[in-house]
Parts: sequence; C-alpha cells; structure tokens
Amino acid sequence: MATAGLLAHGRGEAFDYLIGERTRDNARAAARAAVASMFLAEHPVISVNGNACSLVASELVELSQITGAPLEVNLFYYRKEREDAIVNALRESGADVILGTSNRPSATIPELSSNRRKVDPEGIGRADLVLVPLEDGDRTEALRRIGKRVVTIDLNPMSRTSVYSHITIVDNIVRALPLMIELAHELKNASRDELTSIVSNFDNIENLREAIATIKSHLTEQARTIDEATRVLSETGGS
Ligand code: ATP
Ligand code: MG
Repeated sequence: MATAGLLAHGRGEAFDYLIGERTRDNARAAARAAVASMFLAEHPVISVNGNACSLVASELVELSQITGAPLEVNLFYYRKEREDAIVNALRESGADVILGTSNRPSATIPELSSNRRKVDPEGIGRADLVLVPLEDGDRTEALRRIGKRVVTIDLNPMSRTSVYSHITIVDNIVRALPLMIELAHELKNASRDELTSIVSNFDNIENLREAIATIKSHLTEQARTIDEATRVLSETGGS
C-alpha cells in the first residue's frame, strides 16, 4: 500500500473509534439517499482506489452489478503493478468491464494536477454521478466543479471531501458497502417518484452536523465510563 494510503487508513480508524465503530442512523439515511441517487442517475460510475479495493473489492463489484454503475480505477500514485493488482482483485470478484486502466483512452479534469486529472471518457468523463469512496478533497472539489453529482464514504465528517460532496456516508467502508448492497436490493424496483423523494429529503450538511453530534455524545459517554471505572477502583481499594 502507498504510504499516503496507510496514513489515510489510520485517520479512518481514529474517526471510526470516535463514532463508536458502528453504523449510525445518519449514515444509514445517507446510504439510502446514495443508493437512490445512483438508481436515478443516467450514467453513474464507481471510482475505485487502492484502499477501497483492498478493503471491499467484492462488494464494489456487487454494487456495480446491481446498480449498473461501471467501475473505474483511479490511483493517486500510478504504478503498473498497483493497477494490475487492483484489476486482478476486481476480476477475481467477477468484474467484467473495468474502466480507467492505462490501456484505455483518457480525458482530463481541468484544474487538477497529477495523475488524478485522468478520467475515462466512457466512465467519469461522461458520468452525471460518481461514487468516490475514500476520496481526497482536491479531487472531490474538482469533480463537483465540473458538474458531477458526488457521493462519498468518509469516516471524517469534517474532511473537505465530506463537505464538498452532495451525499456523504460517514461510516467505515467495510460496513457501508454491505449496507448499500442491501439497500440496492430493496430499492431496485422503487418508482422514480419514490427515489426522488428519498434524495430530495436528504440534506448533507444537516447529516454531517448529526455525525458530529454523534461523536460529541459518544465522547461524553466515554468520559462517563472512565469516571465510573475510577470510582469502582477507589471503592475496591485499588491504587
Ligand atoms: P480531505 O482531503 O478530504 O480533506 P484528508 O486529506 O484528511 O481529507 P485523504 O487521505 O485525502 O484525507 O482522504 C481519505 C479519507 O478517507 C479520510 O478522511 C479518512 O478519514 C477516510 N477513511 C480512511 N479509511 C476509511 C474507511 N475504512 N472507511 C471510510 N473512510 C475512511
Ligand atoms: Mg486530502
């Protein structure tokens, strides 16, 4: 894994601890809106980076198959071996078409430097909606600026990605993906009216506020646990 990838993973673990390592109601609501908006989109695409692939390759393939959103490989630091490893993991999980690989045509996102400018013209290039799990803030902002609807999964409700996205699922990707698959089965025959109402009743900033409130109350609870442990210790004569 690239060093930046490891650092991002560590940040994720810290935030997972802060939300109590479980899927909260706000994340559930965001996942529902995310899946509904994927079904409403004309050309939804799922962007896959190294971290996402190492954690949930088979779930990404399954979500792609149910929603009809193709997978597009997107690497922060391109290396052929890294791309091959991702492609192999996705293929082993049953992926058929994989966009964004170096043998495919590429277009660029204006105003972004580095490799991350590159997009597949058949994928993110023409997409109206992009699911970008564990994405970096610069790229999220650029995708939004070129008019894409952006859906993300990010444990940090204060990251730039969380704030710039239209829909942010504040949860661990290893819990969020199975939940999205379950919701996709539930919503795949829903009417467009029903899907539209789910999406229009969702307010991302309000949802991020709820995620932060959850962290606050979880920390208050944790502080109480420490007080209680200290009390028990002193009553039982511990020093
Ligand atoms: P930003 O660039 O959006 O301000 P950042 O620079 O802190 O955020 P990046 O490395 O650019 O972080 O993006 C990775 C994001 O993925 C982080 O916000 C991190 O909390 C989140 N993350 C890491 N692991 C997971 C995981 N397993 N599930 C969900 N989110 C995760
Ligand atoms: Mg970043």
